[in-house]
Amino acid sequence: RQSGRSRPQIVAARKASLLPNLSISYSEPIKFVRGEGAWLIDDRGRAYLDCFNNVCHLGHAHPDVVEAIARQAAKLNTNTRYLHDAIVTYAERLTATLPAGLSVASFACSGSEANSLMLRMARTHTGRGEAIVLDWAYHGTTQELIELSPYKYKRKGGKGRPAHVFEATIPDSYRAPAEWPVDEHAKRFAESVAEQIADMARQGRAPGLFLAESIPSVAGQVFLPDGYLGEVYAMVRAAGGICAADEVQVGFGRVGSHWWAFETQGVTPDIVTMGKPIGNGHPMAALVTTSEIAASFDNGMEYFNTFGGNPVSCAAGLAVLDVIERDGLRRNALEIGDYLMARFKALQDRYDIIGDVRGQGLFLGIELVEDRKSKAPATRLARRINDGVRARGVLIGTEGPYDNVLKMRPPMIFSRANADHLAGVLDEAMAAVLAEGA
Ligand code: PMP
Repeated sequence: RQSGRSRPQIVAARKASLLPNLSISYSEPIKFVRGEGAWLIDDRGRAYLDCFNNVCHLGHAHPDVVEAIARQAAKLNTNTRYLHDAIVTYAERLTATLPAGLSVASFACSGSEANSLMLRMARTHTGRGEAIVLDWAYHGTTQELIELSPYKYKRKGGKGRPAHVFEATIPDSYRAPAEWPVDEHAKRFAESVAEQIADMARQGRAPGLFLAESIPSVAGQVFLPDGYLGEVYAMVRAAGGICAADEVQVGFGRVGSHWWAFETQGVTPDIVTMGKPIGNGHPMAALVTTSEIAASFDNGMEYFNTFGGNPVSCAAGLAVLDVIERDGLRRNALEIGDYLMARFKALQDRYDIIGDVRGQGLFLGIELVEDRKSKAPATRLARRINDGVRARGVLIGTEGPYDNVLKMRPPMIFSRANADHLAGVLDEAMAAVLAEGA
């Protein structure tokens, strides 16, 4: 039964009363009315398998989180200048998931706010504004974060790379020069960071900050070569900078083997920022750092965030950690992720357009190419396959500098049946698009 406005009415109302900068997914937009587990239900009663969302970590409308939020909202919600148990309990629980040195937490309401705080800390701690980022990275929506986001400043509407920002090559093994031995990828890609540091030195500058996602996502689900962050962190620290890991997309056990994706690289960052899945949809974010950086940031200027770390947010965050632990969701992510990788590799054996499949846990990508030798990106095919997958009731996305990587970040409760469904629909959509021809 239809309730509220029709899809075209909402599109028209958005045009009239919302900023036009806000895009809509799909050329034929979907109106969702309900979410449950891995599923989203539209206004016509059709269920879509959500393999894209990233935020609904435990599945949509997870009852434990809903109950935790409702119970706390009914009792007390106020700011963090009053004493409350939840914020300290949550800080202890969160830091316990991180390596020993990362012991001090701060809370915010969005990944952007967490990254802005990170930037303030890096500048205060090092006294430097220079930063190194990876090409095609996205770190947030505020002006100073747009300036650290090649994905924004290089594209339409952007003003190009600011003078204090230095860009290192995307460490994408699939697109590495053919003559590089695979076991040297980490070192070779890290040379690009060394070049940026040398470039800075020639200008009388030095790095304050190296910032990267532990698995670059907007750059196309790029898995860093083993040892890459170790090489880079050593260089940046030797030059007096600090290293931050943006875990907004990839954190909270999504990679399965570890709580945090940087751990797969065997490094410990100086600052970690978190968001999206942290409250299963409740707007919330966090930053965790060392006691040393926390002490030097304590320069007399307060950091107070009106909503950050409030009792309701902390209740949501605690429920998320509880459910991940109680239900063994990291193990599930690893098992189902491995199974999906096997299914995707089987598809790769059958479809020449699949140039590369990559993933760990429930963070996965399939890179489409016109031709496996030239690796020419199959951008249009990716769009058509994404649409075909949607037409078959499954939600994924496309990503990367060429927008030719099918991107998947299903919830941590994803089952083997869900995985079979996704792989089957991908297979059907690829077959159908290829049968249609160009
Ligand atoms: N960092 C990364 C890697 C992100 O993907 C995003 C959001 N897409 C952000 C930061 C910013 O988070 P938010 O939208 O919650 O401000």
